[in-house]
Amino acid sequence: MKTYHTIRLILGDQLNEQHSWYKQIDSGTLYVMMELRSETDYVKHHIQKVVAFFSAMRAFAARLKEMGHDVYYVPLDEPGNAGSFTANLNLLFTATSAKRFEYQLPDEYRLDKELRQFCSEAGFPYSVYDSEHFLSHRDDLRRFFEGKKQYLMESFYRKMRLDYKILLDGDQPHGGKWNYDAENRESWSHTGGIPEPSLPRRETEGWQAWLESCGVSTIGELAPIFDWPITRTEGLQLLSFFIEHQLPWFGKFQDAMTVQHRFLFHSRLSFLMNVKLIHPLEVIQAAESAYRKEPGRYPLAAVEGFIRQILGWREYMRGMYWAFIPGYSHMNYFGHERPLPNWFWTGETRMRCMQAAIGQSLETAYAHHIQRLMITGNFALLAGIHPDAVDEWYLGIYVDAVEWVQLPNTRGMSQFADGGLVGTKPYVSSAAYINKMSDYCKGCAYQPKLKTGDGACPFNSLYWHFYHRNREKLATNPRIGMVYPTLDKMANREALLEQAEKYLQQLDHL
Ligand code: FAD
Ligand code: SF4
Repeated sequence: MKTYHTIRLILGDQLNEQHSWYKQIDSGTLYVMMELRSETDYVKHHIQKVVAFFSAMRAFAARLKEMGHDVYYVPLDEPGNAGSFTANLNLLFTATSAKRFEYQLPDEYRLDKELRQFCSEAGFPYSVYDSEHFLSHRDDLRRFFEGKKQYLMESFYRKMRLDYKILLDGDQPHGGKWNYDAENRESWSHTGGIPEPSLPRRETEGWQAWLESCGVSTIGELAPIFDWPITRTEGLQLLSFFIEHQLPWFGKFQDAMTVQHRFLFHSRLSFLMNVKLIHPLEVIQAAESAYRKEPGRYPLAAVEGFIRQILGWREYMRGMYWAFIPGYSHMNYFGHERPLPNWFWTGETRMRCMQAAIGQSLETAYAHHIQRLMITGNFALLAGIHPDAVDEWYLGIYVDAVEWVQLPNTRGMSQFADGGLVGTKPYVSSAAYINKMSDYCKGCAYQPKLKTGDGACPFNSLYWHFYHRNREKLATNPRIGMVYPTLDKMANREALLEQAEKYLQQLDHL
């Protein structure tokens, strides 16, 4: 192998060709990328997630070579692949005689720790670079909320709007309000079609057998054609498509759910941003500039709502992750202990909402936010599933699942296992909300209006059981409103709780 003075490691979610690293070509620097069993196996991933990551990494390595850089790519089945970053790096340092190590800040605590340890043990000079992707630094959120009791996303979001001068008139929010969320809660009533982007369609033949031959077990399905975008060019294509054809309706139907469409008007940009093929600021600016050019075509509520997801929620979740990791991954505020029902891995349940959200997740490695929060997450919380099991499922099943964003969303926003750091109250609902926001209940084996008896929707009794069993922890929460006075006045309370107990005993058979 040729000798090099420096090895630069590129992680699988650091596919940012605009990084300042790549501005100059240095033949003494070797860029290293690795497919590893430590990454395929820390949780059982959806097969489409593995294929998307490896395909994007391979395409990125080819792109860097095309740009003139020296790249060493270690495939999963290369005989010399020792299976972990540190073991492979040790081999490469010996083979190349390199004397210096450089890497970009990892976004996961696990890798951050592993690489820091590698550097301290290796004893040679090293530098750590920013990944030049996020719009706030790891510790900005912690500093912003220093000494405050609550970590309100809305306050952080306003600061980010001001810092980046997004949707502002002077220093005031454009349109007079910071947040137009109240206008973004319509149920599904769209009568026209939803256009589909024409992305490259790659054949997947061979992937499944190859992964099996490498000993990697996965979940979910891999159709013969794979159309997740895996390069920057394709990502920009999807972004333009979203801005042109979907953003105008994004806000209105942001929380809607239907069996007719999987993606509705959602952007599907999370994977592309999470592996850093596209930058959050270019997404935000594309949305704002479309609105500024044609305000008549783009409702402000849609544009603000979309920008808030990225400039607000995405940055906020990352800041919360770094503010509370590693302790965050063990939080279990309600002390929930139940295992995940088996049908989370098959979608085979009579509950049509769960069937739709899980079935679609297994088929496409995607569900939109309200499906994750108010269907699967809602059920797991009501049923008292252990947050470790819930985390494992979410971390494995979605193509965009990386721990810094999955963990605070799952354990925090969806399971309230952090006791209210991310959300001020648990996101739970009975069937009434699901019936209002979706067409799932029509044709379900259960009745959304029935609380007890044969065919009663499990969400109804489990909702009240959740509040009943957690009274001590929730009764003083000012955001819970009339829940406890209503529960206390209920004539059929005992029957309702008994119904819930019955369902809790047979979760695997719902
Ligand atoms: P759109 O609806 O088009 O939204 C645009 C973008 O906003 C997304 O691409 C995403 O980057 C950002 N965004 C929206 N909501 C959030 C949020 N709550 N936190 C962070 N960013 C957000 N997102 C992930 O990227 N990875 C995960 O592993 C993940 N796990 C989740 C688990 C649970 C239980 C919940 C409730 C949410 C999770 N989310 C996660 C957030 C959100 O559901 C996804 O980002 C979104 O569904 C991705 O689809 P999209 O790109 O079509 O999003
Ligand atoms: Fe889901 Fe209940 Fe509606 Fe069935 S009736 S789809 S279980 S909310």
